[in-house]
Amino acid sequence: MWKKNLPLNPFYETYSESLCLTNFLSSFCLIPGRFEKGRIYTFIGEVVVSMNPYKNLNIYGRDMIEQYKGRELYERPPHLFAIADAAYKAMKRRSKDTCIVISGESGAGKTEASKYIMQYIAAITNPGQRAEVERVKNILLKSNCVLEAFGNAKTNRNDNSSRFGKYMDINFDFKGDPIGGHINNYLLEKTLMSQTPLFPQCSISDGAEFKAVADAMKVIGFKQEEIQTVYKIVAAILHLVSDLPVGVSRLKVVSIIADLLSTKSDMVEKALLFRTVATGRDVIDKQHTEQEATYGRDAFAKAIYERLFCWIVTHINDVIEVKNYDTTIHGKNTVIGVLDIYGFEIFDNNSFEQFCINYCNEKLQQLFIQLVLKQEQEEYQREGIPWKHIDYFNNQVIVDLVEQQHKGIIAILDDACMNVGKVTDEMFLEALNNKLGRHAHFSSRKLCATDKTLEFDRDFRIKHYAGDVIYSVTGFIDKNKDTLFQDFKRLMYNSSNPVLKMMWPEGKLSITEVTKRPLTAATLFKNSMIALVDNLASKEPYYVRCIKPNDKKSPQLFDEERCRHQVEYLGLLENVRVRRAGFAYRQTYEKFLHRYKMISEFTWPNHDLPSDKDAVRKLIECHGFQHDVAYGKTKIFIRTPRTLFTLEDLHAK
Ligand code: ATP
Ligand code: MG
Repeated sequence: MWKKNLPLNPFYETYSESLCLTNFLSSFCLIPGRFEKGRIYTFIGEVVVSMNPYKNLNIYGRDMIEQYKGRELYERPPHLFAIADAAYKAMKRRSKDTCIVISGESGAGKTEASKYIMQYIAAITNPGQRAEVERVKNILLKSNCVLEAFGNAKTNRNDNSSRFGKYMDINFDFKGDPIGGHINNYLLEKTLMSQTPLFPQCSISDGAEFKAVADAMKVIGFKQEEIQTVYKIVAAILHLVSDLPVGVSRLKVVSIIADLLSTKSDMVEKALLFRTVATGRDVIDKQHTEQEATYGRDAFAKAIYERLFCWIVTHINDVIEVKNYDTTIHGKNTVIGVLDIYGFEIFDNNSFEQFCINYCNEKLQQLFIQLVLKQEQEEYQREGIPWKHIDYFNNQVIVDLVEQQHKGIIAILDDACMNVGKVTDEMFLEALNNKLGRHAHFSSRKLCATDKTLEFDRDFRIKHYAGDVIYSVTGFIDKNKDTLFQDFKRLMYNSSNPVLKMMWPEGKLSITEVTKRPLTAATLFKNSMIALVDNLASKEPYYVRCIKPNDKKSPQLFDEERCRHQVEYLGLLENVRVRRAGFAYRQTYEKFLHRYKMISEFTWPNHDLPSDKDAVRKLIECHGFQHDVAYGKTKIFIRTPRTLFTLEDLHAK
């Protein structure tokens, strides 16, 4: 009779694909065809490792969802859904705020994973089909499509690369149904769009995607005039940054832009060519040099793009914000956070954006190290089991190199930007060399070997946890200052389109009104990263570590060297060692008995010992496993998987 209640898939098989194959890489290399067969997930404790299959797999459907719903972590083969379910159960059963942190380099599959996780959560909630919950779920799901349309772009590494970071909280009521959410977005890359014909071999179908985005915007609740404004802004940006087609005059383009932005041609022209400056009591129009005008135009294009993106996020937040939830009546409203941020990237030419993105990945790696080790340590301490320290590379030293107050790269960059007078990127590089030249993770070529004159190269190198990256300093100062001439802000504030006007509230200030110097882009980013990490650390974390099998987006190629590198820098080997040095398996006495009581006469069908712990001890001893286990306060710990497999064999007989 009892066999009826067993999970469909034997625990043995699941387990053999997870902890037993502690060397994750060998599991892919040694089990023939594991990658080709689409068995892309592996567990290391509560961490799921995901290998990008680069092909559609039939493993995310309704049937699969049903197989994971409400199951314990190892009951079913490793899968994203198992982690999503674990995070959901912890949130629902123990009223814990949880978070799922998805990391891995660009193109490794983070965004896809985050969407499957959200789909899973949407599918297993709201059995009562409450209309408001359905509305919220629908918007949460549709928001991905809109945000990707505006915040993703094709890069060398990924056809659909996230160019912004996203942290989404999903709020749940006491029944465990989603009642709202909130999106935090992080530094959007605003590098100017490519001028070359775009992506002849791109895997993306523009027509179908456009329709999907338009539909999604409607579902989210964007009004028709708002959607029109969105398109107009995109068109205005394209006109601003495009080369003029033959036969089209500048005036014509200016007038098109003015129309799209609901302002006047002469005002657009003036904002592009002049800058209003206050000198004492006088206000004068100072004509731009060509260089200033080009800088101003590009900065304007980037700024309207960024404002548009932030406005879209705010709009989504407005419609999914939790409303009318009285905690005194309904109890705590709990949260699952899902983090999908840009992955570590190395291009041929790396600039300020890559510097920020890679710093962000250093922060997340640091969090992983702390939480994964901390959690394990705490579990052993809580349960009274001795803990053996495992050595690992702590990347805090690189985090400090970037973010340390007064000494770090960001502080040095801010200092350079703060200087009155013209500070060049080269001067910034010189300051870096002077202050960080001896740092183990920083280097820069200083002397030009050929003529022996002191000449600065335009790049510096950071030895990141995931590899060395050479950054070109060109543009660091401008991008960090992120200056936009006030004239553009006033131009937009005076637009007759109310949506546009709303995006530019500070355009209200007149030229003579004193404005505080805004924080620099790098400092804003640093602050947001520190807040993000604090937030994640306050929640119970679940991890998805994404790996890229090759750099060719190929479903056939398993590039062993490339995978080995990722396994190493992600700290998965240490992760495995930590699990190994401790105990591969732990379970509460109650659940352990529930599963294995039938293999001992002392426990089947029921035991008469004083506690479940005593019963488990008796069961273990009667099979001679006592040397491989430790008894914690509430859980049994089994050191080697073999013991567990033997238990499973006995169980299956
Ligand atoms: P970035 O840091 O650049 O944003 P990312 O880690 O978010 O990268 P994704 O955009 O999620 O990477 O994945 C890149 C591509 O890989 C997807 O567009 C898709 O083609 C493929 N892919 C990723 N995960 C899966 C999956 N589970 N099943 C099928 N294809 C996948
Ligand atoms: Mg992504």
